[in-house]
Amino acid sequence: MQYVTLLGATGSIGRSTLDVLSQHPDHYRVFALTAHQRIEALVPLCAQYRPVFVVVATDYQAEWLRNQGVDCSILVGSDGLCQVAGDARTDVVMAAIVGAAGLAPTLAAIRAGKKVLLANKEALVMAGALFMADVQRYGATLLPVDSEHNALFQCLPQPGDSLDVQGVERLVLTASGGPFRLTPHADLANVTPEQAVRHPRWSMGPKISVDSATLMNKGLELIEACWLFRATEDQVEICIHPQSIIHSMVQYRDGSTLAQMGCPDMRTPIAVALAWPERIRSGVPSLDLLQCGPLEFSAPDYERFPCLDLARQAMRAGGTAPAILNAANEIAVAAFLQNETSFLQIPVIISQTLAQVAGSSADSLEAVLDADDRARSYALRLLSVCRVNH
Ligand code: NDP
Repeated sequence: MQYVTLLGATGSIGRSTLDVLSQHPDHYRVFALTAHQRIEALVPLCAQYRPVFVVVATDYQAEWLRNQGVDCSILVGSDGLCQVAGDARTDVVMAAIVGAAGLAPTLAAIRAGKKVLLANKEALVMAGALFMADVQRYGATLLPVDSEHNALFQCLPQPGDSLDVQGVERLVLTASGGPFRLTPHADLANVTPEQAVRHPRWSMGPKISVDSATLMNKGLELIEACWLFRATEDQVEICIHPQSIIHSMVQYRDGSTLAQMGCPDMRTPIAVALAWPERIRSGVPSLDLLQCGPLEFSAPDYERFPCLDLARQAMRAGGTAPAILNAANEIAVAAFLQNETSFLQIPVIISQTLAQVAGSSADSLEAVLDADDRARSYALRLLSVCRVNH
């Protein structure tokens, strides 16, 4: 029996994870569930999964849950998240909080030597060097849940070894292209949050859906791939593949290309990571190649989607530049979702923040959090100037 802590239980990945766990009640038990705003969703989850702990954001929410008859231990805030992530009774931690808020608890799980299933790509983007050093130092097992990285993981013989030793020339991340793949640049100025979150292939939370629409999601994934597989930025190629059947590919120096394919459903990578190195049922049917139609591939349009290049620049710059990129993106996307800025302003805010906020080496958590903080303040100032000029 493996005990699972689910950070971000009320989100899209959280719900898919619970779906997979409930198919294997003899192998997995829920140890802890965490939520931030949607605490009403925790009430039925507590009744169904009987966790030892739940973690919420405020004392008020904790009190509300107790009044609903939730009788497990209730913890509050970031300390509570870190406590359940590192608890000696937890075997597996699913890191599925969105954004920088996931960094501290994910690091806590790593520093407790857990098996960490990583969906929260922003944590790795912010603090990649520190993160990977701590995986080694504390003997944690890090398994990628992001479908592209999970695909690469499945296509690599020794994912921990250098690409050169494995004979790899290139990693190819596929991208659906998002809802605006064919939208002319002029029309992008007026797209709404509702249009941006309507992803053609995947059902996901609002932040990653907007990231998919700007292609920043692929930029963050590029940085994620560099850290996970010890690749340089120029070893990672992006390929638009609107059908989302091939989840990514590895190209070897002998001319072989290995691809991982499947229906676009996050329960597959979740099940792969959860059971690795074994295979378990996920509830996802096998791909029916006769039904999936032609598969198309094209190069990304770096001009219409400048976020991709901004991510490449940040990875090349190194140090805290990816943390600055991530922070500016989180601020810009949140503002867009609130109708406070336009879709085309998102890359402008990120680019100006990257240009103006000084980077440094990212050798401590303090340095990363300081860069994150300065970048957020700068991006917020930019947003208020934009609003005044609007
Ligand atoms: P959702 O927005 O659906 O869920 C996010 C989860 O994080 C929710 O449980 C939310 O709680 C919680 N949360 C939000 N803010 C905080 C905070 N400040 N402190 C603590 N918890 C918080 O996102 P997704 O499930 O779509 O994505 C989660 C992560 O997985 C992201 O990093 C994303 O990039 C990554 N990912 C997602 C994929 C997908 O298919 N959805 C695919 C690949 C990666 P509440 O809902 O209660 O407010």
